Amino acid sequence: MTDQLVISGGTVYTPQGPVEINVHVSDGVITGLEDGESMSMGARVVDARGMFVLPGAIDVHVHSRDPGFPEKEDFGTLTSAAAAGGVTTVLDMPNTVPGVDSDGVLEAKAALAHSKARVDFGLWGLVRSSSTAEQLEGLAKAGAMGFKAYLGYAFSLVRKQIQYTPDADDPDMEAPPDYGTLLRLAPVVAALGLPLVIHAEDPGILAAFRRPLDSYADLLASRPPEAEAVAISAAAAIADSVGARLHVAHLSSALGLVAAEAAIRDGSRLSLETCPQYLWLSDQDFARLGTAMKMFPPVRTESDRDALIDGVARGVIEVVATDHAPHTDADKARSLDEAAAGSPGVQTLYLSCLELAKQLGDVWKAPKWVCEGPAAMAGLHESKGQIAPGFDADLVIVDPRRNTIVRPEMMRSRQRHSALEGLVSSFSIVEVYVRGRPVARGGRTVGKATGRMVSPP
Ligand SMILES: [Zn+2]
Repeated sequence: MTDQLVISGGTVYTPQGPVEINVHVSDGVITGLEDGESMSMGARVVDARGMFVLPGAIDVHVHSRDPGFPEKEDFGTLTSAAAAGGVTTVLDMPNTVPGVDSDGVLEAKAALAHSKARVDFGLWGLVRSSSTAEQLEGLAKAGAMGFKAYLGYAFSLVRKQIQYTPDADDPDMEAPPDYGTLLRLAPVVAALGLPLVIHAEDPGILAAFRRPLDSYADLLASRPPEAEAVAISAAAAIADSVGARLHVAHLSSALGLVAAEAAIRDGSRLSLETCPQYLWLSDQDFARLGTAMKMFPPVRTESDRDALIDGVARGVIEVVATDHAPHTDADKARSLDEAAAGSPGVQTLYLSCLELAKQLGDVWKAPKWVCEGPAAMAGLHESKGQIAPGFDADLVIVDPRRNTIVRPEMMRSRQRHSALEGLVSSFSIVEVYVRGRPVARGGRTVGKATGRMVSPP
């Protein structure tokens, strides 16, 4: 027997614009969009009158911490937060333990994630300075979404994890991937047709400006925006030389955006991502938020924020993702210098983007930033990110008349702090479906962990 669902009478977002139409779903797939009274016999009918019906968001940048750091997060808590926030697909970064540097590691992580995931998930592979063509090909075959290179992050051969600011004399540390690594592996990445994601901060510039962080101004001075711009320009030149697709993670600066736009004008196959924290916050918020907003790259000045808002408004930055990176309260409670960098964010992605889009005068831009752009970047544009026949029925019902204030109590991540605490979104997420199955209602998860792994076609 087929499982039929009709979402009836809502304002449905389609790439052509919003329409009041019924969404028909059969066995988890959207089968049709239809005007008027819904007549499906035997279908579950959800009354969405007065509501928005949006495609589920795809967060291309999350850190599940699983396996590796269960005290911070795991795939169950990550995907509970995602489900509650209308994120129906998460793409998990490869800096779990062991680092996802080969097919065997990816397959083991996929099995683990599958046992706990409440939403669909994809997995990125890790580029190490020692990575071989065979390893990248194996990762692709095992279903990796693409590859992530962390410029400046070494790899511990003992703990099998990447590490920031390693002791230079530690014999167990493998050198970070550098531009040489990218140049050596770019032809392999190009041949596989998958994106190469970079953490774009030039390690040489960061090393030259390293200092104790006594104030937020020190933190900004230690990671100048030139580090971002230089890394983007260099990586784009390398990727262009062989036609590889490059994706810049978490763009944080006006200068980085200028460098990226110059590369795009010159023909680079470059996609850009920024995060809600860079669109909502500036250094002025540090006094209020403290280490909750410590992250790398840092939240910068108001003029950086304005440039990034302009970038998403113009559609040059096609992807808004979260860099959801939970740490325990104890990890965050240390001094600015010693506190862990990163903050949870997956649950507030959609709410914050809807509010930003509304404030920019066009609420329907939000699904472009969190659904369509990410689907295109990740190669999922034939199955996810749109409400259209043949697509997965990943659907989010949003109430545009009831607001949500971001508060720790609502968080479903293992960590409840948020850099966006206090943000008022004019929207609330009522119900969330993954492939036609409800996964969250009123901010609480429902049903079982039935998330599936996704891979590029
Ligand atoms: Zn990240």
